[in-house]
Amino acid sequence: MMMIPNRHYAELKDSYLFYHIAQKTKAYLSEHPGAKLYRLGIGDVTLPLCNAVIKALHQAVDDQASQERFHGYMPECGADFLREAIAGYYAQRNVQLSADEIFVSSGASDELGDILDLFDRSNAAMIIEPAYPAYVDANIMAGRKIVHLPSDCSNGFLPEPDPSSEADLLYICSPNNPTGAVFDRAQLQKWVDYANAHGSIILFDAAYEAFIEQPGLPHSIFEIEGAKTCAIEICSLSKTAGFTGTRLGYTVIPKKLARGGMNMNDMWVRNRTTKTNGVSYIIQKGGAAVFTPEGQREIHQNIQLYKQNAKMLMQTLDALNVWYCGGKNAPYIWMKCPDGLGSWDFFDLLLNRIQVIGTPGEGFGACGEGYFRFSTFGSPEDTKEAAKRLYELLK
Ligand code: PLP
Repeated sequence: MMMIPNRHYAELKDSYLFYHIAQKTKAYLSEHPGAKLYRLGIGDVTLPLCNAVIKALHQAVDDQASQERFHGYMPECGADFLREAIAGYYAQRNVQLSADEIFVSSGASDELGDILDLFDRSNAAMIIEPAYPAYVDANIMAGRKIVHLPSDCSNGFLPEPDPSSEADLLYICSPNNPTGAVFDRAQLQKWVDYANAHGSIILFDAAYEAFIEQPGLPHSIFEIEGAKTCAIEICSLSKTAGFTGTRLGYTVIPKKLARGGMNMNDMWVRNRTTKTNGVSYIIQKGGAAVFTPEGQREIHQNIQLYKQNAKMLMQTLDALNVWYCGGKNAPYIWMKCPDGLGSWDFFDLLLNRIQVIGTPGEGFGACGEGYFRFSTFGSPEDTKEAAKRLYELLK
């Protein structure tokens, strides 16, 4: 017998986006040693964890040193104290969930890959593009057919369901990475109605929900009527609370969600109790602090600091009369490249002329060509200088 590898890995495109950016940046620095670069490409946070979280983490470390308060294995689906805190967070937006509809995870990336265990490989996955690259790659690895649904500025990068591109798994990311666009209630209702009518399941990525500031925009798919019979929501504390290195997320699978006579919540309990031994006690304690009033106040102070960066960039683009979306309710700004430039040409122009680094839209799918993403996670000083340089270059 010969071991047969998963040949679908050979179908993956090189993940060249960030590699290519790093190569170009390195080449520039070797030609211009010591040059100062303004990095607006990063998807990682830069502000430290807030005090409420740090206090809870310290306390949890001390618990682990105590005979009485020590914790060994944690429940596979998450500690009750955290699942209940998250259920309370949803209740504030009138979404009623029981704690056992919430599964604690080590982050959204892990879940976006692992959750595919619930679905047969013959299901097709529909991905609204431009998109976070992991959606496509995780489905290619699993050998699943991918239906690409391109979006563009004519629909504000918020497309409606397209009956001609039928699929079983529907990926929706709102607020979106990379475009920063956010679906409103009526738009999401169309997706929920479509999924219920077709028996599809929506995988709703809410990694950036805490950046929504406009009243009335939905933070969760479960704010939409009928979503409990057609959606799974994947969330993360990475961007909302600075947990990119600490690692914590959560996934909501309603008890009512069933397909083919099988209950998805029960299936996920079976999956978790087989494939993980839970997230560490210390990290879950730190995560629970995010949902206290003090934690919420502090994480929103940090988000406001990132939003100041967004404002500087948006004011600059407004003054230049450049089309863009995002920034207001998301940490990303997605702009149209000027003069019909391709996204890599615009990358080169910004690097060579004003030493600003962003992310070419083409890296998020073919329909991202001609667009460019700025992240607002950088330092205020660098963002201010980058905005000034951008204005001087394009005015
Ligand atoms: N989903 C989206 C849309 C993201 O942009 C990211 C990270 O950038 C993730 C998921 C992954 O988040 P995590 O750090 O929780 O794995």
